[in-house]
Amino acid sequence: MHEMGVAQQMINIALSSIPKDIVNPKVEKLNLKIGRLAAVVEDSLRFCFDIIAKDSPLEGAELVVEHVAVKVRCKSCDKTWEVDDPIFSCSSCKDGAVEIISGRELEIISIELAE
Ligand SMILES: [Zn+2]
Repeated sequence: MHEMGVAQQMINIALSSIPKDIVNPKVEKLNLKIGRLAAVVEDSLRFCFDIIAKDSPLEGAELVVEHVAVKVRCKSCDKTWEVDDPIFSCSSCKDGAVEIISGRELEIISIELAE
């Protein structure tokens, strides 16, 4: 399962961002950004996260996911727009040379520690 690796990576990043001088840290919330093209199934990600986070400071942490729309730009006329499905030709000049400028990201925006 692809999400298992993603969850593991997220947890590694989150763990390394916890200040070392905190005794028994507990992460309450993990704020994430997931692009619609990131090819991550949110339910699977939550499932894997719960498994890997067990017995770590992240156990029981809430995942707050913000979805990022897919944004594309036409290389010919510079028009940018958002798409729901990856249809990659320009609606304005019909050119096929469009590039994806957002929608692939998967990043941790912030983590919130319990008091
Ligand atoms: Zn165009």
